[in-house]
Formats: sequence, C-alpha cells, structure tokens
Amino acid sequence: MATRRPLVAANWKMAGSLQLAQELIQKFSRISGGSPDVVLCPPSVYLDNIQRKLEAASQTLSGCSLHLGGQNLSHQEFGAYTGEISGGMLKEFGCKYVIIGHSERRRMYGETSDMVAEKFAMAQKMGLTPILCVGESLAARQANRTFEVLAGELDAVLDKVGIMAFDNAVLAYEPLWAIGTGKSATPEQAQEVHAYLRQRLSALSPYEGEKIRILYGGSVKPSNAADLFTQPDVDGGLVGGASLNASEFVTLCRIA
Ligand code: PGA
Repeated sequence: MATRRPLVAANWKMAGSLQLAQELIQKFSRISGGSPDVVLCPPSVYLDNIQRKLEAASQTLSGCSLHLGGQNLSHQEFGAYTGEISGGMLKEFGCKYVIIGHSERRRMYGETSDMVAEKFAMAQKMGLTPILCVGESLAARQANRTFEVLAGELDAVLDKVGIMAFDNAVLAYEPLWAIGTGKSATPEQAQEVHAYLRQRLSALSPYEGEKIRILYGGSVKPSNAADLFTQPDVDGGLVGGASLNASEFVTLCRIA
C-alpha cells in the first residue's frame, strides 16, 4: 500500500487576519520532528504579506512543510473579469495549491461542475495543485444519493482532464451538512465515502487511486480529528472554523 503523506489545509474563508498568520507562524516555528504538509488558504489580499512573513521565518520553520494556497481562481487566464483572480497571480504570490469547487462557491456563486472542471484544468496549467472539493447535501444523503452526487461531481472533472491529471491533485470530501455545523461525519461515514472515491479513481488507474490524498472536511476539530485522520483512506483534513484559532489548528496538524 502506498504511504501517503498527510496534508492539513486551513480554509480561512472570508475570515482571519494578519495577526492570525503571525500567531500561526510563531506556533509552527516551535514544531520540530516532522509535520504533515500544511497549507494556509487565506483571503487573497493577505497572500503577499503572509508570503513575506513565511520567508522571513524560513529558518525557524525548517521543521515544517508550510505552503500557501488560494481559495478560488478564475477559469480564465487573464482579461476583463472584474473582481476575479487568476491562477498565474496566485502563483506569483507564492501559492502552491488552490481550493476548487468548494460547496460555498458551487451553492452561492453558481459554480457548476463544468466550471469546476475548467478551474481544475486552469489551476494545473498555471502550475498549481488543485484541492478539489466534493460533497453531498443532507437531502441527498437522506435520499441515499450520496455516491451518485459524488460520482457526478468527480466524473465532471475526470471527463475533462482525465485520470492522469489526478497525479497532481488533492481530493477533499466535504459533506455539506457537516460544514460549519459543528456536526462532523462519523469516522465510519468518512471512511466509507473516502474508500468509494479512491476506488472510483483506482478503477481508472490503480496507481493514481492509491497515490491521491483524500482530505476530510466539515467540522474537524481537535476532539474528533484523531478518529477521523486514522481512518485508512483519510489522509488529512480541510479545516474551516478550527483553522481560525492558532492553537487548535496547530493541534490538528500535530494529530495528523
Ligand atoms: P468547517 O469548514 O471546518 O468550518 O466545517 C470546512 C470547510 O468548509 O472547508
């Protein structure tokens, strides 16, 4: 079985501050003896400043694998798209990763699975690693349509980019009913879905299926992280609320 390096990503959404970034960097500076890959995804206006902070602290952060990520990108490379941010810009400001297809973007900003697939392709074209989010609503789960919804969201991207593109991607399972609700999926529910997603990729390429990291997201906190992260197909987390508290987030990274 492949050994997958755990990854924990902080999705600040429209929250957080430069002060929080400073606190996190200070706490991570004290970590020694190996950490998971950690990705900070702050609002894009903070990227420049945080990148500088990370550079300034690079000596003391040598025990950590700390990276920057965007929360979204345009599906276009450049041009007259007021308010949008391109993958190239994220790259220029030090991002290695970008979250794609978060349910808040799908739901509130009308991002269809086709657009998500285009963004996935654009992220890779710009040299970024997409963190592709998929997840079912409570209604879909109650109607026993979880796998159907997840397969639809995953296949929309697979159909556009092909399985080999998943060589440089991260998948995140985020059930909508668990995001920001305080009620996470149980470790068994998460494992069941992660195994399903992995198997779906493995059917196309056993190598890529084994290799890809699948994160769980939705009310991850220090009290439930250990049970979630030790599931065989859970390779870390995508963390919203708990990433806004430096102590809690660093604790989560230690658990992973
Ligand atoms: P949450 O958010 O941890 O606050 O539930 C997770 C996410 O939306 O990525």
